[in-house]
Amino acid sequence: MDQSTSAPFGDDRLPERFWTKVSVQPEGCWQWTAVLTQDGYPKFRYAGEMARAHRLSYALLHDEIPEGMALDHLCRNRACVRPVHLEPVTPRENVLRGRDWAARNAMPTHCSNGHELTPENIRMYRGSRRCRECRRRIDRDRKHHARRVSELSKAVVQAADRLRDLQATESDLAKVDALYEVEMELRQAASVPSQREAGAL
Ligand SMILES: [Zn+2]
Ligand SMILES: [Zn+2]
Repeated sequence: MDQSTSAPFGDDRLPERFWTKVSVQPEGCWQWTAVLTQDGYPKFRYAGEMARAHRLSYALLHDEIPEGMALDHLCRNRACVRPVHLEPVTPRENVLRGRDWAARNAMPTHCSNGHELTPENIRMYRGSRRCRECRRRIDRDRKHHARRVSELSKAVVQAADRLRDLQATESDLAKVDALYEVEMELRQAASVPSQREAGAL
C-alpha cells in the first residue's frame, strides 16, 4: 500500500464530524466507530444522503471512483475508511478477492495451544480474536507463582531473623545480608512480565 501521496488524518476536505467517528489503529487502519451497514461497511450522512464512508473518503481525499467500480479493502477491514487502504476494482474482482482471502484466512478452530475456539472461548483484544482458556491459565499460573514467591520470601526473612538473633559473628551477619538479598530478588521475580499478548492465535 503506497502511503506516500496519502491524505493526512483529519484532512479538512471531509467535515469534522466525519473525523470524530474515526479511530486510528496501530496497524494503520482508520476504523469507523459509528454506524455500519448490515454487511459491515461504514455509513455516514453527507450532503443530505446516506453514503458509504469509505467511498466518500476515497472520492474526496484520493481520487474519483470510476463508474461501476467497487472499492476493495486491501487491509481486509471493511470498516476502514483510509483511502490508501482502498483500491477500485470491478465488482467481479472484488468478490474473487474476498473469496481468495477468506480461503487463505479460514478461521482457525483451535488456538496455538490446542484449545477449541468455541464462541464462549473467544475474547476480543484490540480487534483480534484471542483464546480465553490461555488467558485463564496464565492468570492462574501467575497467582500460583505469586503465592509461592510470597511463601518463600517469608521463609527467607524468618531464617535471616533467626540467624541474626543467634550470637552472630561478622561472617554470620554477612550471610544474613545475603539472605535479605535473596528475599528481595524473590519479590522482584513476583512481578511477572506483562503477558498482554496471551492467547494470540
Ligand atoms: Zn485499513
Ligand atoms: Zn488457548
